[in-house]
Amino acid sequence: MVHSKVVIIGSGPAAHTAAIYLSRAELQPVLYEGMLANGTAAGGQLTTTTDIENFPGFPDGIGGGELMENMRKQSVRFGTEVITETISKVDLSQRPFKLWTEWSDGPEDAPARTADAVIIATGANARRLDLPGEEKYWQNGISACAVCDGAVPIFRNKPLFVIGGGDSAAEEAMFLAKYGSSVTVLVRRDKLRASKAMANRLLAHPKVTVRFNSVATQVLGEEKPNGLMTHLKVKNVVSGEEEVVDANGLFYAVGHDPATALFKGQINLDEESYIVTKPGTSYTSVEGVFACGDVQDKRYRQAITSAGSGCIAALEAEKFISEHESQEPANETEVPADGNAPEYKQNPLL
Ligand SMILES: Cc1cc2nc3c(=O)[nH]c(=O)nc-3n(C[C@H](O)[C@H](O)[C@H](O)COP(=O)(O)OP(=O)(O)OC[C@H]3O[C@@H](n4cnc5c(N)ncnc54)[C@H](O)[C@@H]3O)c2cc1C
Repeated sequence: MVHSKVVIIGSGPAAHTAAIYLSRAELQPVLYEGMLANGTAAGGQLTTTTDIENFPGFPDGIGGGELMENMRKQSVRFGTEVITETISKVDLSQRPFKLWTEWSDGPEDAPARTADAVIIATGANARRLDLPGEEKYWQNGISACAVCDGAVPIFRNKPLFVIGGGDSAAEEAMFLAKYGSSVTVLVRRDKLRASKAMANRLLAHPKVTVRFNSVATQVLGEEKPNGLMTHLKVKNVVSGEEEVVDANGLFYAVGHDPATALFKGQINLDEESYIVTKPGTSYTSVEGVFACGDVQDKRYRQAITSAGSGCIAALEAEKFISEHESQEPANETEVPADGNAPEYKQNPLL
């Protein structure tokens, strides 16, 4: 069993930003990047997409895989130890925290590592629907992020579809209306789940049509390699009628699954299983455990916001470790009753 001051679980922009800050602060962080953890390659969600056009610093865009490879190199350059294994079990009940990896989690197995502080950056995967044609046209017309992909040329002045009836679906549809010739929202039920104000705005939007009692049943498109989607089969669940409609974009807004099964019962999760952090900070309900990125953010879910929160987690973990080492009470980390984050009084990294 090996002990580290700080272990990072995850491998997306949040994890690597935390690793860059902590390794530059000479804390020798260990980062478990996962081995196809939750079905995603090490590097996280961006490895499943092509061009990233909204990450600052790349005026011509950059491939998602290349961006993550660069972040990984930067983490390693400053001394992060990256381990290509998935964390399968944790014990956060007392410090040092204990972590087991996928191949050593039997009841008798000793933990693979212990740590004074843990940063959780395991992400949240967009739910898919497993429609026929989905795999073929994923990222060739189908997307789970309108803000990420809506502006790309294949969607300009084209008929676009959104699946979902909640606030996210409404927001995505109105965002996409800037780019598409029309946006149709498919809602399985006979009403929207979105808040009243959002639903009213959606229904009044001149470029948006809401089709109730409707589901997509198949995605159709070009047969050539990397061909684009061109049509969608839509079914009315009341009448049973199916029709094929022109569709060049299909955006899923049917929710995300945060990768938090490991932590259930050990730190506070909300009703959708996202990790609860104190507003404006990475503090979880367990002292010494920090969370950053999409696993604790159900609102923005962007690479840059994940990276920003990874920086916050690193600064807070570093502060926690230095206070812990000097046996000083960590009372600056307490959040006042008004919920506002405390002013950051001491930043040992700067
Ligand atoms: C198709 C697609 C396109 C996107 N395009 C853009 C875009 O253009 N711009 C943008 O800003 N955002 C985009 N996003 C959103 C962006 O990818 C996410 O907001 C960002 O990747 C979240 O980063 P993260 O660090 O929180 O975690 P993630 O990127 O989700 O990475 C977490 C990773 O940690 C690893 N992991 C999980 N559990 C464990 C474990 N138990 N042990 C070890 N490792 C584990 C896995 O590899 C997991 O994927 C896109 C998302 C998708 C799906």
